[in-house]
Order: sequence, then structure tokens, then C-alpha cells
Amino acid sequence: MFDFFILMIVGLSFSGLAFFLKTNLGWKKPRKPFSASHRQILEENISFYNALEPSDKTQFEKRIAEFMLNYKFVGSDTQVTDKDKILVACSAIIPIFSFPDWRYNRLKQIIVFPDNFNRQFQVGLEDSNIRGLVGFGYMEGKLCVSRTALYSGFETFDDKRNTCLHEFIHLIDMEDGEVDGVPEKLLQHKYTIPWIFIMNKEIMRIKAGYSDINDYAGTNKAEFFAVVSEYFFERPEDFKYEHPRLFNVMNEIFKPKSSIFRRKSVEKS
Ligand SMILES: [Zn+2]
Repeated sequence: MFDFFILMIVGLSFSGLAFFLKTNLGWKKPRKPFSASHRQILEENISFYNALEPSDKTQFEKRIAEFMLNYKFVGSDTQVTDKDKILVACSAIIPIFSFPDWRYNRLKQIIVFPDNFNRQFQVGLEDSNIRGLVGFGYMEGKLCVSRTALYSGFETFDDKRNTCLHEFIHLIDMEDGEVDGVPEKLLQHKYTIPWIFIMNKEIMRIKAGYSDINDYAGTNKAEFFAVVSEYFFERPEDFKYEHPRLFNVMNEIFKPKSSIFRRKSVEKS
């Protein structure tokens, strides 16, 4: 019995070590302080950052720097700029800012396109209307985003649209192996059934034309979750007022800091 107990402890320590290695091995930590030029990009573009308490701002900068270090950025016929990287990193960190140990395990590289692209990843053609993309198969590990869509997502940070954040919501959804609108890594099991019920009901309202949520959310539950998350992070007060039950579950999923309600727009003139 005693031996079994020791074996069990050793076994548990090994599985704990394996988990630690899986999540931390190869994860780079920034060595240099956050640069003034990067901070300026945050201040000029990210209302979420500007509303944070000073200690949270430092934490946010650390997470942004970590993201930029640990995922590869590639430009498709374009040079990736610091602003591209910061805005992509913000899209990734804003939704999971309350989860310091979160890793996008399914993501390896971000491909930045100068503008919207088509299914063959060509820019500037009549059918070049894709703003962002993640997926399985040949898209495994990749997130593609159009710079135009990336920038406009933050230029008007209260229009319920943010393409890059939308794509990261799909990655959050995918972390449990299924893209089904139920982020099982973030949502406690007891909320799953109510969440599916609320989603189905709202999708019916969208299809019937009775909702202020973008029609695209009616496509399926995965798109519903991504579109509603854009709305939740862009206009949390309106979202709470218009959709109190949806808001409660979204709050359970993302557990955002209360500062998201104090945001002022940093729209460009
Ligand atoms: Zn989508």
C-alpha cells in the first residue's frame, strides 16, 4: 500500500513535470524592458490598454512582449511592422488577459497580408474579400490577417467589429479540439448547457431579423461566439444593456477586468 502510494506520488510528479514542460519549455520571457516606441503604439491605438490601472498596464505590456517573442510573424508580400505585431498581439491578449497562463497552443505563426485576400491568398483582385482566417489542415498553426482589417479593428474600437480579435476567439474555441462556440477551457462545465441554449435562441432571433448582433453570427455557433465576443469587447456597456443573459455568460467565460467599462475611444481624426 505504502509502495503504491509512493509510486502514485512519483507518477503524479512526473505528470505535473510533463505538464510544466509542455507549457513552459521553449516559452521565452522578454529580457529587455518594454520599449518606449511600443508603449507609444499602445497609447495611440489601444483604448483597452489606456483604461487599465497602472499595474495592469505593466502586466499587459509584459504579455504583449511575450506574445511577440513566442509566435512567428511573416509578411506576405509585405514587411511586418512593429505596429502590425503590437496590434496582432493585442487582439490575442485582450480576450484572455485575465488568464496569465494562457497559451495559444494551436498557433505557430501569424501571416500579415497588406490587404484583404482571396481563397488563393491573392490581394487586390475582385474576390479578395477575406479579412482574416484560421483553420485546420493546411491552415493548422496559422492565422492570416489583412493589415487593412487589423488596423480598422482598432481605429474604431466601438463599432462591434475587430477581425483579428475574432480570429483569436476561434483559436480560443479550438483549444479544446472542437470549433463549436463552446470554449471548454474557459467555460465551467455547469454553464455549457445554458450557453448552448442562449446561443441557439439568439441565432434564431438574428435569423428572424430581431437582433442588433451582426448577421454573420447566425452562420453557426462558432461564428456566433466570435462575432458576439467582438461586440462584448468593443461595446461592453451596450452589450450588457441589450443582451444581459448573454453578457452574464460572456463575463463567466472571459472574466474581464472592470476597466473595460471605463474605456474612451482613441479614434483617429
Ligand atoms: Zn469567423
